[in-house]
Amino acid sequence: MQNYIDVAEKNGVTLYGEGSCQFCGANTTRGVHECVEIFSLAFQLIDYSKPENHIYRFLSVDAHTLQHPEIHGRWNNHFHLTRQHLIFEYKIAWNYGLSPKLSDYLNAYKADRSDEFLAPPKVLERGSVTTTDVRDSAKTEAECQAMIEKWGQEVYQSWNQYHELVDKIAQGFPDKNRSQLPKIKLLLK
Ligand SMILES: [Zn+2]
Repeated sequence: MQNYIDVAEKNGVTLYGEGSCQFCGANTTRGVHECVEIFSLAFQLIDYSKPENHIYRFLSVDAHTLQHPEIHGRWNNHFHLTRQHLIFEYKIAWNYGLSPKLSDYLNAYKADRSDEFLAPPKVLERGSVTTTDVRDSAKTEAECQAMIEKWGQEVYQSWNQYHELVDKIAQGFPDKNRSQLPKIKLLLK
């Protein structure tokens, strides 16, 4: 995330360092910079030493990235929306080993689709849950887990015009043994 200021500049986006976050509407005083800081602290109510909690890290990263695509490279949208789709629709219990496999898969996918671009929903219309909501409203690990899942779901729904497209990507990943991957039991549905 250190590069997000450079990426925004490259994307031609001006970042504002005051008030609420210009992208997600988080209740900050230093704008997107504070939003990124809160996200980078990773919501420490969750014990990430437990492998079963790693999913909340993936869900947070996907939610924050897709709420703030202006501070990321354009192909990140494919990666994070496809991962959300695999978790929410196919109930894949994501793990650290799967992320590089998805990256490799997408590298092959995008080779002959250099013009494909997932246009983000309008700013402030990418799910009502934000970093400050997750930080401020959860008092226990279980509440934090539920908030992160809600955050992820809301952001995922806001990108619904691309669900069909990422489903095509998801259906080919991983090409051999998706049915053998462990399934996740989500809290909200
Ligand atoms: Zn934000």
